[in-house]
Amino acid sequence: MEKLLVSFDDFKKSKKLVVENKPFHFEYDKEIIKSANLVFSFEANKYDDVISVTGTVTGTMSFECSRCLKEFEQNIKIPFECSFTKEEYEYDIAEEMRESVLLNIPMKPLCKNDCKGLCPVCGNNRNEKDCFCEQKMKDEFVAEKWSKIKKLKI
Ligand SMILES: [Zn+2]
Ligand SMILES: [Zn+2]
Repeated sequence: MEKLLVSFDDFKKSKKLVVENKPFHFEYDKEIIKSANLVFSFEANKYDDVISVTGTVTGTMSFECSRCLKEFEQNIKIPFECSFTKEEYEYDIAEEMRESVLLNIPMKPLCKNDCKGLCPVCGNNRNEKDCFCEQKMKDEFVAEKWSKIKKLKI
């Protein structure tokens, strides 16, 4: 991944460094994240021997719903902050942003909180239509139980 180094050299003229709406590309696991269209902004301030950085990564990311497997897009806004000292001298902001993004995305993405998922019997997406497979299975189960009970009585 491309580094984005901020160092004490950047503060020779000014105590403040502002970066706005730059595209943010990073490597990610395609199993979890389907696509990412992100930009970042940050402000870095120099206080004597410390540089303090605060910023945000914003944009859209697509995930595969962990229940119904449908791909969906989500707006994201992830803040990050870090600081480094004169001894460290420089710091990779890209790595900091990558970690913040990965920490803040859902482990089990859901297209919506009440996603009904796929039917385990027929594979139908239950958000789109009801298939009643589970109800049918339940009915059959009950019917079978009753038939056994009836047989016992006879
Ligand atoms: Zn879903
Ligand atoms: Zn079904």
